[in-house]
Amino acid sequence: MQTIFDYAVIGVGAAGLSFLKERHQLINKKFIAIDKNIHTQKNHIFGFWNMPWTKELTRHSHKKWNAWSIISQDEEISFYSEKHKYEILYLDKWKNESLKSERDLVICQNNVRTIYKKNKIFEITLDNDDVCYAHNIVDSRSTKLDRKYLKQHFLGQTIKVKNDIFDENKLVLMDFRVDQSKGIHFIYLVPFAKNKALIESTMFSFNEENDEWYIKAIENYLYKFYNLKEWTVLDEEKGSIPMTVIDEPKNDFINIGTMSGAMKPSSGYAMSFIQKQISDLFQNDLIINKNITNPHKKIDLWMDKVFLKVLEADSIMAIDIFIKLGKILNGDEFALFMSGQANMLIRLKIIFKMPKKPFLKALFH
Ligand SMILES: Cc1cc2nc3c(=O)[nH]c(=O)nc-3n(C[C@H](O)[C@H](O)[C@H](O)COP(=O)(O)OP(=O)(O)OC[C@H]3O[C@@H](n4cnc5c(N)ncnc54)[C@H](O)[C@@H]3O)c2cc1C
Repeated sequence: MQTIFDYAVIGVGAAGLSFLKERHQLINKKFIAIDKNIHTQKNHIFGFWNMPWTKELTRHSHKKWNAWSIISQDEEISFYSEKHKYEILYLDKWKNESLKSERDLVICQNNVRTIYKKNKIFEITLDNDDVCYAHNIVDSRSTKLDRKYLKQHFLGQTIKVKNDIFDENKLVLMDFRVDQSKGIHFIYLVPFAKNKALIESTMFSFNEENDEWYIKAIENYLYKFYNLKEWTVLDEEKGSIPMTVIDEPKNDFINIGTMSGAMKPSSGYAMSFIQKQISDLFQNDLIINKNITNPHKKIDLWMDKVFLKVLEADSIMAIDIFIKLGKILNGDEFALFMSGQANMLIRLKIIFKMPKKPFLKALFH
């Protein structure tokens, strides 16, 4: 006789893993985790600010920083926070921990082709024609949006150099001293040690570039600011993520992750919001009613929409805006804002200090 699982978790990326990590809260239930890349997904790092709901991630984090900066051609804005450190976590390490094989979990690497509901039971058909059954679907499958939207796209290399050249106590969140001809472009520099760092060329634009373009940007940056001509590439990560407000899917599933709108549209940060979404789901019994809350406040989504319109219209203005944001917020306020926890005072500070003309134009567009 066919097993009917209680929960089929489809898509085992950041959101699927976060859900599975909490599955012990659903007592005596059987889970199947299905992902086309579950054993073949490329490792990468996740960055986030320490918040009360990121405790579980913090247990696995690799390194933490109290200080970070934003740099433009003219100035460097430095932030410091004792309470909300910036942390990074390796996907692989966290995944192994979350998927520790226990008897309640079946893991399946395959592509889900179709899902139908028959007599209150979901029938899931995989690419190899295997079929499995579940009472509930927890879905985080990534899909392409059928409209034009701003993207955050990037390629980063973890490099090792001969001498101690990086300031390992300060992470560079955005360094805009790079080619701005193709859109908003900055370097994200994660110093793991004095001689080891992730250097990521990151763009906010509608079109992705070829790999050589980002690699050239990294090379130019290392030469210009560190006088480096030689290094060893230890690892590479790349990605393209949507910077747009995503409508909640209309289906009978428990929708989680990016495709349920968990990513912060104006920054591409999702990890912290996914933790919040999953924590709400379990804490408030929402899982019983399949009633998923969007982890963003309505006012923040509205501010993000206006902000994105300004970014789309004027990429040079964008640098000015990030620098202004840095000047008006201290480290704690910045971390709270990026993690969706800004209070009204922080929001008003931002609204009053932003350049009025482009924001009013975007608002009435
Ligand atoms: C390289 C990279 C670095 C990032 N760094 C950060 C960061 O530092 N901080 C941060 O906050 N965010 C970061 N993000 C953004 C965000 O946190 C991630 O995109 C996050 O992985 C989103 O989680 P998710 O579960 O919604 O989607 P995903 O992690 O993309 O998971 C979706 C899963 O669904 C599977 N899938 C899709 N279709 C099917 C199908 N038909 N059948 C079976 N499986 C399917 C895919 O294989 C995938 O594993 C990064 C993203 C990338 C790509």
